[in-house]
Amino acid sequence: MRIGIGYDVHRLVPDRRLILGGVEITYHLGLLGHSDADVLTHAIVDAILGAAALGDIGTHFPDTDDRYEGMDSLIFLADAATKIGQCGYQIENVDSTVIVQSPKLAPYISEMRAKLAETLNIDIAQINVKATTAEELGVVGEGNAIVAHAIACLSRL
Ligand code: ZN
Repeated sequence: MRIGIGYDVHRLVPDRRLILGGVEITYHLGLLGHSDADVLTHAIVDAILGAAALGDIGTHFPDTDDRYEGMDSLIFLADAATKIGQCGYQIENVDSTVIVQSPKLAPYISEMRAKLAETLNIDIAQINVKATTAEELGVVGEGNAIVAHAIACLSRL
């Protein structure tokens, strides 16, 4: 068994789409970043790469590379899954938490899990997504950023 953790944060700004777990969320602000800035997917990519000791998302998909501008982060996730497979690992499960003051994510969680599971080629029962607020504390609580944490467990193929 191999365990990996992932963490990410992106700023919430006007004139950007809000994409979390590959799902577009209706909101007046979106996450700022070089790719689609999907903070949840980025944390999961780092957890999976980390469990296999394959570095991090920035190593594999540098934000200085124009090919990744505006990129659908599910493509990074699919690529991370391929990379760990090439190293002889498979995903046992992934758990994650999104810390977001607003909007409420409950209506979108099932769709996020389905998209992430499909991208990772795992069962929906192997991936969990939780959402919590920051109790209006700090930069996340003031609605200026979204944070995501993830953990992944891999086993030998
Ligand atoms: Zn990110």
